[in-house]
Amino acid sequence: VDPVKENYVRKVKNCIFSIAFPTPFKSRVRLVAVSKEVPEDILDLDLSVSETDDFIQLVSGEKIVFGSIPLAHRYGGHQFGIWAGQLGDGRAHLLGIYMNRQGEKWELQLKGSGKTPYSRNGDGRAVLRSSVREFLCSEAMHSLGIPTSRAASLVVSDDEVWRDQFYNGNIVKERGAIVLRVAKSWFRIGSLEILAHYGELDLLRTLLDFIIREHFPSVKVTEPNRYVDFFSIVVSKTAQLIALWMSVGFAHGVCNTDNFSLLSITIDYGPFGFMEAYNPDFVPNTSDDERRYKIGNQANVGMFNLNKLLQALNPLLDPRQKQLAAQILEGYPVLYYTRFRDLFKAKLGLLGERKGDDDVIAFLLHQFWALKMISEHKLFPAWVSQYLLRLKSNMNDSDSERRKRMTTVNPRYVLKNWMAESAVRKAERNDFSEVCLLQHVLQHPFQKHSAAEKAGYSSPTPSWAKDLRVSCSS
Ligand code: AMP
Ligand code: MG
Ligand code: MG
Repeated sequence: VDPVKENYVRKVKNCIFSIAFPTPFKSRVRLVAVSKEVPEDILDLDLSVSETDDFIQLVSGEKIVFGSIPLAHRYGGHQFGIWAGQLGDGRAHLLGIYMNRQGEKWELQLKGSGKTPYSRNGDGRAVLRSSVREFLCSEAMHSLGIPTSRAASLVVSDDEVWRDQFYNGNIVKERGAIVLRVAKSWFRIGSLEILAHYGELDLLRTLLDFIIREHFPSVKVTEPNRYVDFFSIVVSKTAQLIALWMSVGFAHGVCNTDNFSLLSITIDYGPFGFMEAYNPDFVPNTSDDERRYKIGNQANVGMFNLNKLLQALNPLLDPRQKQLAAQILEGYPVLYYTRFRDLFKAKLGLLGERKGDDDVIAFLLHQFWALKMISEHKLFPAWVSQYLLRLKSNMNDSDSERRKRMTTVNPRYVLKNWMAESAVRKAERNDFSEVCLLQHVLQHPFQKHSAAEKAGYSSPTPSWAKDLRVSCSS
């Protein structure tokens, strides 16, 4: 495949992948960050490997390892609620599947590595600022215990990449960067949607059976109800994932069906944000005019996306299976709320089940979210006494035990926008010290860290960052 061929970027039919080679940067690249855990724990490589030229060439798309056939994945999706047709890996290359010594398979993918048949009008590149954000946040989410794709490395070049900043109308010269990302699988709801949409049902069946065989060991590939069983797992895991996002105040920002993983891991870190104080109307992405992906709408959007998944499965289901699957989807709100409630009870240190637990949580979240000073609310003392009374009903508990439990579920540090922005500004001046500090701190988000306290990471957003905005520009 020759990227300079005129018809390279095109409408692709009847396939799941296209062979596509990364386009190396013209200028010299620098490896500026490596996640210690990914090479060591996932890939089973000695961290010193990351200091070799081979590693840098691999993670910057300069050299393809022997036997690898790099691929760009064809997928479609619903963007902001509307069918968007063919999307696909427009700037990502799947390098291959890596099997580590434990026999686990991991898919290695470069992001920002040049044009593919799915680049449409894009340049196939990713800029440094969004790459820093993706690198830091994927690892941070993992350390928070939230299923996510991982980031192994970050390289930066001096190649010019021009980006519209959207909100100020300026087109700015930035630098290209590449992240090596790792996940068990990069398939998304949109991977199936495109096949169903264009009536490529044999491929749809083939892909689903492959995904089930590789990633859903509890579902038998020979089982006639396997697609319903598969759907049921995705419904339940998606509900859990979104509840987990909510428990740390994470707003994904672009919950399109092409950004929703079939393994229900968090993928595609773009204009995400962590909210400062509870506010269901929090929208991290300034390009989201209709506020569709506000944090308080994520659970609903999950339902919308699962419904799109069901529509993609429908051509393969008989009437009875369709009915079954529809019933499973109806169970989503309960699955979500059950997990949400358990997570928030844990955050509050509540053990067991008591009548009124829902009120304790709801009261805290909904009554007080708009108030800067919760403690000044006239109902706050009443809530506190109700809460204290509830804590007394915890069986076999003590203040110190509870404190211990609560510190393991209430993170001290999350990657708020201003923290990422501060690291990005330095990175743009070739100072990667704050990227490194954040990487370090966010690997143990529940532990107090003196350098993090000094940097103000557990304090409210500093005044210089009050008006920070993040857009889709990346
Ligand atoms: P996202 O909003 O990040 O999910 O991206 C939506 C689609 O646009 C995906 O198919 C991306 O691969 C593609 N895309 C985004 N940015 C670029 C770019 N700079 N070059 C090529 N394709 C891109
Ligand atoms: Mg995407
Ligand atoms: Mg993106």
